[in-house]
This record gives sequence, structure tokens and C-alpha cells, in this order.
Amino acid sequence: MEFNLSKVSGSENDPHKVEKMIIIGAGPAGLSAALYAARAELEPLVLTGMSLGGQASLTHMIENYPGFPDGVGGVELGELFQKQAERFGTRFEFDSVTEVDFSRTPYSVRTYGQEYKTETVIISTGADPVYLEIPGEKELTGKGVSYCGTCDGWFFKDRDIVVIGGGDSALEEGIFLTRFAKSVTIIHRRSELRAGKILQTRAFNNPKIEFMWDTVLEKINGEASVESVLLKDVKSGETVVHPTEGVFIFIGHTPNTDLFKGQLDMDENGYLKVDTKMQTKKLGIYAAGEVMDSSFKQVVTSAGWGAAAAIQATRFLEEKE
Ligand code: NAP
Repeated sequence: MEFNLSKVSGSENDPHKVEKMIIIGAGPAGLSAALYAARAELEPLVLTGMSLGGQASLTHMIENYPGFPDGVGGVELGELFQKQAERFGTRFEFDSVTEVDFSRTPYSVRTYGQEYKTETVIISTGADPVYLEIPGEKELTGKGVSYCGTCDGWFFKDRDIVVIGGGDSALEEGIFLTRFAKSVTIIHRRSELRAGKILQTRAFNNPKIEFMWDTVLEKINGEASVESVLLKDVKSGETVVHPTEGVFIFIGHTPNTDLFKGQLDMDENGYLKVDTKMQTKKLGIYAAGEVMDSSFKQVVTSAGWGAAAAIQATRFLEEKE
């Protein structure tokens, strides 16, 4: 998402200042939390990381966020969230968090630029795509291997491409990619899709989409760019080289929680654990959105959790005073 630097109003360079609230991450959860906290006059500081809008901003069109009966672009929705949070006094810093210390209060949050002290933290760092971890994947990323149809689809005009995965993301992105590609082959490791019925029907009815069932990718071949993939039929064990110029991988996400290892509790997949009030095991530290949500992963649920975390943090600060 484009970031208007002229709008950025960072925290004053006072090393003794203690923020009321720092929000780490600027996806739907972080920006909704910012809106609620700003309206409670907490003047939240959002440390955005490298982008605004989160994964939603990588989605071409969002059709299931209430209030937009005709759908809304992912980038546009992120910008609207940001504008609304800013209107009530949210401050943004275009900086990434490198270290946190939650062992004592006020809590410490360090970025490349400076160290902040804060009474509360809302963690909304989201999730990143899962990698296949097969030969050729890393080497050819950006040279035909992609994890974002909205970002890279245009480069595949009139090309034959493959999409890996059988969930909502694979089908949604696969359908989107038919705008550009000559053909989209969706390769799934089982013979049954995980995606919802509406997307399934749309994909089955799309003349540019074909499916390859019970098939996994073993290798991505190419020198300067992707030329083919090595496929294996998981039932027969047979392998075949399938020519293609693009490989789009949508096989799930991993939460961005490395920063908090050893300081906050996580489940076996790395998602932060929170109680019913969005609080982690540390008083005043909350988590919202895909960093704590392994099952819903919707813009609307993330936004809701962000709002809930901010409301709870506001109550916590009021009780403290
Ligand atoms: P997902 O639902 O976890 O699906 C991942 C897919 O990738 C599954 O089909 C899985 O196969 C396959 N897969 C996983 N690891 C694999 C591997 N190593 N090799 C080959 N295939 C592999 O992930 P998602 O599609 O990103 O969706 C995540 C969440 O976001 C879901 O809750 C989804 O409903 C939601 N979402 C919603 C929308 C929407 O509402 N429009 C859009 C996008 C995402 P198996 O099926 O065999 O496990």
C-alpha cells in the first residue's frame, strides 16, 4: 500500500516519554485498534512495519466486508481504515520492531529507529505465507514464483501458470489470475477442496481454470525464470514435468510471532495465546488478528478483535488510573 510520508507524525523524540499505547502492525486488526484507542484519546502510536493494510491490501477485491455491497479493493479498504484512525489522532511510524522487553513496566519496544516505553501494547503483526520448501522455490521467487496474485498477476498476461493449494486463498487468487493468464491449473494434494462452496462453484465454472488432483510439486525448474515444475501423483507415485511460466503458492500462513518467543505464550503453531479479553499472559499486552487467530482469518474478524483489544486496553488504563 502506498504510504503518504507527509502524513506521518511520529512520537516526539523524548527518551523519557511513556506512551499509553503502542500498536505493532497496521493490518485490519491494528488499524481498528488504533481507531478505537484514538477515540478514547489515548493517542496510540502505530509502528507499521514495512507496509500498511496487512494481507488484505494484497487482495484485489474484498467482497465479504460488511458495508460494501459491491465489494471494495483491498488497498482502498486499508487506506480508509488508516484515514479513519488518523482522523482521531493516531500517530504512525513507518518503522519495524526489532526487539521487545515485556519483563518489566513500562514495556520496551525497540525499532530500527529508536526505543519506546509504553504502558500497553497491542500486537497485530499478522501472518506470512507458508513456503513449500522445495528446490527452485527460493531461487525463482520473483522470477515466476509468487505468493500474491494481486501484486504479480499482471506479469503473467497470456501465460500458462499453476496455482498450488486447495483452500479459499488458492481458489480466490486462481480466479483472479484468470484475468491475465491464458490458463490457470490449480494443483491440489488431495481430491477434495478445502475452499468454500461459492469459490468452488466459481472456479469450476471458469473456462480458464483446470484442476490437477492428488498432485504435489517436487521441484520448480528454470534458470532466469520459471520454465516448468516437477509434479508427483501422490497415489501412483508417477512424476511428470509440466511446462509453466508462473507458480503461485497459496498453502496457508504462519503467524509473525518470532519477536515474542520466550516472553508470551503461543500454541504449537506459533499463534499467540490470548484470553477472552484479548489479553496475553502479560497485563496490558494484547494480541488481535491473524497473529492470534488460526481459524477465522477474515478482515471483519481481525477488525473486530482489534477493536476489542483496544477497548480492553482502555479499560485497563482507566482502572490503573
Ligand atoms: P488454508 O485454508 O489453510 O488452505 C491451505 C491449502 O493448502 C489446503 O488446501 C492445503 O491442503 C494446502 N496445503 C497446505 N500445505 C501444503 C503443502 N505443503 N503442499 C501442498 N498443499 C498444501 O489456507 P488459505 O487458503 O490461505 O486460507 C486461510 C484462511 O483464510 C482460511 O480460514 C480461509 O477460509 C480464509 N480465507 C478466506 C477468504 C474468503 O473468505 N474470501 C479468502 C482467503 C482466505 P489440504 O486441504 O490437504 O490441507
